[in-house]
Amino acid sequence: MLHIQENITSILQRIEKACIANNRDPKEVRLLLATKTVPASKIRLALATGQTLIAENKIQELKEKYHDLLDLKPTNHFIGHLQTNKIKDVLKYDISCIHSVDRLDLATKLHQRLTLENKTIDILIQINTSNEESKFGIAPDQAIELIQQVAQFPTLRIKGLMTIGLFSAEEDKIRPCFKLLKDIQQQVIQLNIPHVEMQELSMGMSGDLEIAIAEGATIVRVGTAIFGERLYPDSYYWNENK
Ligand SMILES: *Cc1c(COP(=O)(O)O)cnc(C)c1O
Repeated sequence: MLHIQENITSILQRIEKACIANNRDPKEVRLLLATKTVPASKIRLALATGQTLIAENKIQELKEKYHDLLDLKPTNHFIGHLQTNKIKDVLKYDISCIHSVDRLDLATKLHQRLTLENKTIDILIQINTSNEESKFGIAPDQAIELIQQVAQFPTLRIKGLMTIGLFSAEEDKIRPCFKLLKDIQQQVIQLNIPHVEMQELSMGMSGDLEIAIAEGATIVRVGTAIFGERLYPDSYYWNENK
């Protein structure tokens, strides 16, 4: 039995501590439960503590768990790499925000499908701030151009940016990723692009949420520290070759 409830309490304490240390109101930072590989029964335990925001990386898992959790009325976000042939599927499951829009082709096809369904959706633009080839996300120097293009699509409501920090034990290698995301956010705000909001910074995970909060995160995405280690390596979720 994993101590999911206790783990959530301790994550909330970490969030609160990091906020206080950085003169931020803990209410400014939302906890998102990253539930990949976690069975619905365990997600239910987490939701029973009052948490409401969950996210999957793969459509298949979303499909498998969605109905089992429906009665608890969670808010569903999507944080995984989205292939254009899965767009129809992702829109079936009440996803209120896609964190991983990282290319024009994807945005174009999302817009086409949403138009057809007469729907809109919140999105974040995912940026590859660590410049690792294995990571998804638009290159930092192309992010603003992408945002300007995506802003043309009225079905996609841009709410901010998302990144995955460098995997490293060294804080001074992780922090620049989050600083860069914040910096791009500020540049976009300056440009005042119609229909573009920039209030959300989705960054920080189990190992680095304090650094992310110090740099301005508004959503931290936590899996391992709540649900325990996963069976599959994260490259399974993050590597384009899989
Ligand atoms: C799995 C995942 C997380 C959570 O990572 P942990 O290290 O398990 O907290 C956050 N963001 C994304 C995009 C993920 O795939």
